Amino acid sequence: MNLSSFPRLRLAHLPTPLEPLERLSKHLGGPHIWVKRDDCTGLATGGNKTRKLEFLMADAEREGADVVLTQGAIQSNHARQTAAAAARLGVACHILLEERLSDAPAAYQASGNVFLDELCGATIGRHPGGTDMNAALEQAADGLRAAGCRPYVIPGGGSNRIGALGYVDCLSETFEQADAAGIRFTQLWTATGSAGTQAGLLAGMSALEREVAIRGVSVRFDRATQEEKVFALACETARYIDAPPPPRGAVVAYDEYVGAGYGHPTAGMREAVELLARTEGLLLDPVYSGKGMAGLVDRIRRGEFTGDEHIVFLHTGGSASLFAYEWAFERSAH
Ligand SMILES: *Cc1c(COP(=O)(O)O)cnc(C)c1O
Repeated sequence: MNLSSFPRLRLAHLPTPLEPLERLSKHLGGPHIWVKRDDCTGLATGGNKTRKLEFLMADAEREGADVVLTQGAIQSNHARQTAAAAARLGVACHILLEERLSDAPAAYQASGNVFLDELCGATIGRHPGGTDMNAALEQAADGLRAAGCRPYVIPGGGSNRIGALGYVDCLSETFEQADAAGIRFTQLWTATGSAGTQAGLLAGMSALEREVAIRGVSVRFDRATQEEKVFALACETARYIDAPPPPRGAVVAYDEYVGAGYGHPTAGMREAVELLARTEGLLLDPVYSGKGMAGLVDRIRRGEFTGDEHIVFLHTGGSASLFAYEWAFERSAH
């Protein structure tokens, strides 16, 4: 897939590795599980937002922006990677954080990603849960314009057709690596939130004319809502790159692994995070990849795969928030 006509900055360490998880596969007795290490994109502890930011920050630069604005939950990995990308470019960064977990302890409010946002020099505004964050974002941009700045607004999660290009590219990178390794994977799993990652993968599948089942695990919305979000953005992204729209039936976002809501720990998430740490020394995160992996583990245990299938789990990053979520794990006294 040739994306060379789209402005892009180099922020990520690419290609990220595609690695077999042999001990996990053996432990689960199911298919061959591979991990696509987008937790290793390299920008201030990495993650999936870095691929999107390569295209978004290039657009910001083209527009002559001197400050970038974005929004997310308190422990937003997107906010942290945006703050780091802005630092790399030497532009200011302002982040609006929504307090979606009202009863969380002090570490959640101040450690993990929030600490890193501030370390990278971003300024932060906090908003109560339920705020219309996109409206708040536009309002903040208006204020900056009135003060003579040139703000560039990045939507939550970096999820628009520009950011999604990062995952069009990731899909072709993954196919190249799988081809080189001599494997054909049947499914690609990812956690899905603001939808740009899954939408980019789906648009990439259309563009490449290759067949793979893309499975999203929703971390926030019910299945119908999430699938519509992903489908709409996948169609828009496909149009942007002159590819046919993906079929609606190719959009799957399971909602059984969300638990009480976005960012709320679940037993399956805890098990998945501990399992990957203890079988593979691999750190997942409590909000996204932990729930995504909980979904994959559940489907394997239900016997949905054959032993000779190859499945790729896209590790979208986020382990920086583990330090803000220590309370969600059982620990022996220390
Ligand atoms: C943002 C994020 C996701 C979800 O990606 P979307 O493009 O927002 O759907 C998954 N995992 C991690 C760690 C994230 O930070």
